[in-house]
Amino acid sequence: MVRVVALTFDVEQDCPPFAETKNGMRYGLPRVMDLLEEYGIRGTFLFTGRIAEEFPELARRAAKKHELGCHGLQHERFDRLSPNEVRKRLSEAREILNRFGEVTSFRAPNFQFPDEYYPLLYQAGFRIDSTKARHKGWRKGVLQISGIIEVPATTTSIVTRLPWRLQERFHRKFESPVVYIFHPWEFVEMSRRLRPDCWFGTGKNALDNLRRLIEFHIDSGSTFLTLQEIGEMMGKAKTSND
Ligand SMILES: [Zn+2]
Repeated sequence: MVRVVALTFDVEQDCPPFAETKNGMRYGLPRVMDLLEEYGIRGTFLFTGRIAEEFPELARRAAKKHELGCHGLQHERFDRLSPNEVRKRLSEAREILNRFGEVTSFRAPNFQFPDEYYPLLYQAGFRIDSTKARHKGWRKGVLQISGIIEVPATTTSIVTRLPWRLQERFHRKFESPVVYIFHPWEFVEMSRRLRPDCWFGTGKNALDNLRRLIEFHIDSGSTFLTLQEIGEMMGKAKTSND
């Protein structure tokens, strides 16, 4: 069976909440988009609403050549907010992002989004979520929660910053759909004054590894899809099984 792979990017300020800079947006994300476009691959770029407002050209490029999705309004912890506040922030974020193109995919910052808030996600117009993560203990596959198709993330970005010879065996084993998570700031050299997971393997190393990862999956015959495409595929498979 053909393996399906999604390259997803949580588009936010540099290593939130530990840095205030946005070098990932200025230098990292354009490099990543260039790389994906060189291979004709559409990635999924989940922007916070505020970052999309500040970097409209990048949001426009994501909507036009890739998939534009949502990563909250300003990288908030949704599990610490009231239902009313969650509703307000989701609808404001989607309203901003929809100026660039129709947005249906979501991933909550810090992988924190309580199950009882999924109906709010649906009401705000989202249809696909990728907050549940296998590396955070999620053991089920793709399923639906309150009308939202859950496409779980496979692995954290720290894995894809390891030396290639160490990470390659993981890629061989990952089950389809393989959903990778990256961040724009990983593709710029981050300051060593930050905590180690904010700078380890960042910069050229991360970009070289992303190229290797793309070539690994091309050589293995994998198919690259966006979260939306995976969600639609799963939605259809579910309907035909009903
Ligand atoms: Zn984030």
